[in-house]
Amino acid sequence: MNREPRIAISPGSFDPLTNGHVDIIQRGARLFDRIIIAILVNREKTPLFTAEERVEIAREVFASDGNVEVDTFGGLLVEYARRRQASVIVRGLRAVSDFEYEMQMALMNRHLSPELETVFMMPGEAYTYLSSRLVKEVFALGGSVEGLVPPAVERRLLVKR
Ligand code: ADP
Repeated sequence: MNREPRIAISPGSFDPLTNGHVDIIQRGARLFDRIIIAILVNREKTPLFTAEERVEIAREVFASDGNVEVDTFGGLLVEYARRRQASVIVRGLRAVSDFEYEMQMALMNRHLSPELETVFMMPGEAYTYLSSRLVKEVFALGGSVEGLVPPAVERRLLVKR
Protein backbone atom coordinates (compact mmCIF):
# COMPACT_ATOMS: atom_id res chain seq x y z
CA MET A 1 0.00 0.00 0.00
CA ASN A 2 1.37 3.41 -0.93
CA ARG A 3 1.27 6.07 1.70
CA GLU A 4 2.68 9.53 2.13
CA PRO A 5 6.05 9.54 3.90
CA ARG A 6 5.58 10.28 7.59
CA ILE A 7 7.61 13.35 8.45
CA ALA A 8 8.33 14.30 12.07
CA ILE A 9 9.79 17.47 13.51
CA SER A 10 12.00 17.63 16.57
CA PRO A 11 11.86 21.30 17.56
CA GLY A 12 14.02 23.00 20.17
CA SER A 13 16.75 25.45 20.95
CA PHE A 14 19.51 22.82 21.02
CA ASP A 15 21.87 25.33 22.64
CA PRO A 16 23.80 23.12 22.80
CA LEU A 17 22.76 19.73 21.42
CA THR A 18 23.15 17.17 24.24
CA ASN A 19 23.31 13.40 24.25
CA GLY A 20 19.71 13.47 25.55
CA HIS A 21 18.61 15.22 22.34
CA VAL A 22 20.63 12.74 20.26
CA ASP A 23 18.90 9.82 22.04
CA ILE A 24 15.41 11.21 21.33
CA ILE A 25 16.20 12.09 17.70
CA GLN A 26 17.61 8.62 17.04
CA ARG A 27 14.47 7.05 18.50
CA GLY A 28 12.37 9.30 16.27
CA ALA A 29 14.46 8.40 13.23
CA ARG A 30 13.58 4.75 13.78
CA LEU A 31 9.86 5.47 14.01
CA PHE A 32 9.35 7.95 11.18
CA ASP A 33 10.35 8.11 7.52
CA ARG A 34 12.09 11.42 8.10
CA ILE A 35 12.82 13.55 11.11
CA ILE A 36 13.67 17.22 10.84
CA ILE A 37 15.68 18.80 13.64
CA ALA A 38 14.14 22.26 13.68
CA ILE A 39 16.39 24.72 15.47
CA LEU A 40 14.51 27.66 16.89
CA VAL A 41 16.26 30.93 16.10
CA ASN A 42 15.96 34.24 17.92
CA ARG A 43 14.51 33.06 21.20
CA GLU A 44 17.44 33.88 23.39
CA LYS A 45 19.26 37.11 22.74
CA THR A 46 22.62 35.73 23.75
CA PRO A 47 22.77 32.04 22.88
CA LEU A 48 25.94 30.10 23.59
CA PHE A 49 26.08 28.96 19.95
CA THR A 50 24.70 30.91 17.00
CA ALA A 51 21.97 29.27 14.94
CA GLU A 52 24.56 28.63 12.21
CA GLU A 53 26.86 26.88 14.66
CA ARG A 54 23.98 24.77 16.01
CA VAL A 55 23.04 23.74 12.47
CA GLU A 56 26.64 22.84 11.71
CA ILE A 57 26.91 20.77 14.91
CA ALA A 58 23.66 18.86 14.28
CA ARG A 59 24.66 18.15 10.66
CA GLU A 60 28.00 16.83 11.82
CA VAL A 61 26.47 14.62 14.53
CA PHE A 62 23.81 13.12 12.22
CA ALA A 63 25.95 13.02 9.06
CA SER A 64 25.51 9.28 8.66
CA ASP A 65 21.77 9.19 9.48
CA GLY A 66 20.14 9.43 6.08
CA ASN A 67 16.65 10.29 7.30
CA VAL A 68 17.66 13.07 9.71
CA GLU A 69 17.52 16.60 8.31
CA VAL A 70 18.60 19.82 10.02
CA ASP A 71 16.81 23.13 9.52
CA THR A 72 16.03 26.36 11.38
CA PHE A 73 12.67 27.92 12.04
CA GLY A 74 11.12 30.96 13.65
CA GLY A 75 7.55 31.89 14.43
CA LEU A 76 4.76 29.40 15.00
CA LEU A 77 5.80 25.77 15.01
CA VAL A 78 2.46 24.67 13.53
CA GLU A 79 3.03 26.92 10.52
CA TYR A 80 6.50 25.54 10.03
CA ALA A 81 5.13 21.97 10.29
CA ARG A 82 2.49 22.75 7.67
CA ARG A 83 5.11 24.16 5.33
CA ARG A 84 7.30 21.09 5.75
CA GLN A 85 4.30 18.73 5.41
CA ALA A 86 5.10 17.18 8.77
CA SER A 87 2.39 15.32 10.65
CA VAL A 88 4.19 14.70 13.94
CA ILE A 89 6.05 16.73 16.57
CA VAL A 90 8.53 14.71 18.61
CA ARG A 91 9.38 15.87 22.13
CA GLY A 92 11.40 14.28 24.91
CA LEU A 93 10.00 13.76 28.40
CA ARG A 94 12.61 13.48 31.10
CA ALA A 95 10.66 13.68 34.32
CA VAL A 96 7.32 14.74 35.74
CA SER A 97 8.69 18.27 35.86
CA ASP A 98 8.65 18.40 32.03
CA PHE A 99 5.07 17.26 31.87
CA GLU A 100 3.05 20.36 32.61
CA TYR A 101 4.83 22.63 30.15
CA GLU A 102 4.89 19.95 27.47
CA MET A 103 1.18 19.20 27.90
CA GLN A 104 0.28 22.86 27.59
CA MET A 105 2.31 23.21 24.44
CA ALA A 106 0.98 20.00 22.90
CA LEU A 107 -2.62 21.02 23.57
CA MET A 108 -2.06 24.55 22.28
CA ASN A 109 -0.49 23.17 19.12
CA ARG A 110 -3.43 20.79 18.74
CA HIS A 111 -5.79 23.74 19.13
CA LEU A 112 -3.92 25.59 16.38
CA SER A 113 -3.49 22.58 14.12
CA PRO A 114 -5.71 19.57 15.02
CA GLU A 115 -4.14 17.25 12.44
CA LEU A 116 -0.65 17.66 13.87
CA GLU A 117 0.10 15.01 16.52
CA THR A 118 2.66 15.40 19.33
CA VAL A 119 4.55 12.24 20.30
CA PHE A 120 6.53 12.04 23.54
CA MET A 121 9.46 9.75 24.05
CA MET A 122 11.53 8.93 27.10
CA PRO A 123 15.30 9.02 26.79
CA GLY A 124 17.65 6.41 28.25
CA GLU A 125 17.88 6.75 32.05
CA ALA A 126 21.39 8.18 31.78
CA TYR A 127 19.95 11.32 30.17
CA THR A 128 17.00 12.03 32.42
CA TYR A 129 18.88 14.66 34.41
CA LEU A 130 20.53 16.27 31.41
CA SER A 131 19.54 19.66 29.98
CA SER A 132 21.22 22.26 27.78
CA ARG A 133 20.87 24.74 30.62
CA LEU A 134 22.83 22.51 33.03
CA VAL A 135 25.49 21.77 30.44
CA LYS A 136 25.98 25.51 29.98
CA GLU A 137 26.21 26.03 33.74
CA VAL A 138 28.72 23.22 34.26
CA PHE A 139 30.80 24.49 31.36
CA ALA A 140 30.70 28.10 32.60
CA LEU A 141 31.91 26.95 36.02
CA GLY A 142 34.81 25.06 34.50
CA GLY A 143 33.42 21.51 34.83
CA SER A 144 33.80 18.71 32.31
CA VAL A 145 30.89 17.99 29.98
CA GLU A 146 32.45 14.83 28.57
CA GLY A 147 29.83 12.17 27.96
CA LEU A 148 27.01 14.70 28.25
CA VAL A 149 27.30 16.19 24.78
CA PRO A 150 28.51 14.83 21.42
CA PRO A 151 32.25 15.30 20.74
CA ALA A 152 31.34 17.93 18.11
CA VAL A 153 29.90 20.09 20.90
CA GLU A 154 32.67 19.38 23.39
CA ARG A 155 35.29 20.39 20.85
CA ARG A 156 33.59 23.70 20.14
CA LEU A 157 33.11 24.39 23.84
CA LEU A 158 36.81 23.88 24.47
CA VAL A 159 37.58 26.41 21.73
CA LYS A 160 35.30 28.95 23.44
CA ARG A 161 37.10 28.42 26.72
P1 ADP B 1 13.11 23.77 24.36
O1 ADP B 1 13.72 25.06 24.78
O2 ADP B 1 12.08 23.87 23.30
O3 ADP B 1 12.70 22.87 25.49
P2 ADP B 1 15.44 22.15 24.09
O4 ADP B 1 16.50 22.28 23.07
O5 ADP B 1 15.84 22.39 25.50
O6 ADP B 1 14.32 23.10 23.60
O7 ADP B 1 14.78 20.72 24.01
C1 ADP B 1 14.20 20.24 22.85
C2 ADP B 1 13.49 18.93 23.15
O8 ADP B 1 14.40 17.97 23.65
C3 ADP B 1 12.40 19.03 24.21
O9 ADP B 1 11.37 18.14 23.86
C4 ADP B 1 13.07 18.56 25.46
O10 ADP B 1 12.14 18.00 26.37
C5 ADP B 1 13.94 17.48 24.89
N1 ADP B 1 15.10 17.20 25.73
C6 ADP B 1 16.01 18.05 26.19
N2 ADP B 1 16.93 17.42 26.93
C7 ADP B 1 16.58 16.12 26.95
C8 ADP B 1 17.10 14.93 27.57
N3 ADP B 1 18.17 14.97 28.35
N4 ADP B 1 16.44 13.78 27.36
C9 ADP B 1 15.35 13.76 26.59
N5 ADP B 1 14.79 14.81 25.99
C10 ADP B 1 15.39 15.98 26.17
